[in-house]
Amino acid sequence: MRKPVIAGNWKLFKTNKEAVDLVTRLIPEVKKSRDVEIVVAPVFTALTSVKEAISGSNVMLSGQDCFWEEEGPFTGEVSPRLLVDAGCSHVIIGHSERRQFFGDTDETVNKKIQAALKAGLIVLFCIGETLAEREADKTFDILKRQVAGGLSGITSEQLGNIIIAYEPVWAIGTGKTATDEQAQEAHAFIRSLVAGLYNKTAGNKIRILYGGSVKPENIKGLMTQPDIDGALVGGASLKAESFSAIVNYSA
Ligand code: PEP
Repeated sequence: MRKPVIAGNWKLFKTNKEAVDLVTRLIPEVKKSRDVEIVVAPVFTALTSVKEAISGSNVMLSGQDCFWEEEGPFTGEVSPRLLVDAGCSHVIIGHSERRQFFGDTDETVNKKIQAALKAGLIVLFCIGETLAEREADKTFDILKRQVAGGLSGITSEQLGNIIIAYEPVWAIGTGKTATDEQAQEAHAFIRSLVAGLYNKTAGNKIRILYGGSVKPENIKGLMTQPDIDGALVGGASLKAESFSAIVNYSA
């Protein structure tokens, strides 16, 4: 049985005060959701204040990215060890915005995943095709390349600390959601890729989240699909009302 995960990516939004306000309003709304793992990913500068605010709650903390070195002359970077130090249990790696604007490649994503796992973090590993790639019928090729690249050298034991997030780039922040069937097709394919790289049990066990304009209105349909195990939510995670409605999708 795969436990659902609902994760909120706050991207480059929220000051410390706004982040604490948001999570303080969220906590009472989701406190009964024992069957869903709830994760929020604030900006780096708000991690420690959000950590304090979620203490004793069922909300977990994630970084939005990390570097692969532990420390050294790497101005501007944050290492997995520092995320752990700030109270994170999770980290998002390979988000399409990092791939698009900050030069992340399958190779650097893999280095980041290796480093994050070594530090004891659970990785939210993002993959997904662009609109041009989908229209050129390359979706499966892209997913295959991204999955194989990101998981290169990862042992089956380490795989237990990886959650894949399938986020078609054309659906992120655009209001366009993949249909339930499009999402299910991609998730089933990703599961088969993991089964092929490891084994059938690993394929069955890995949790695969959908991301791309998830809202309270479409979460139920997505969650009824057999291979969708939760959601990575951007825009709708910035308000306690919409994010809690997504977390409480089964209520
Ligand atoms: C995201 O940032 O991962 C995301 C899916 O954003 P949105 O929900 O706004 O499309």
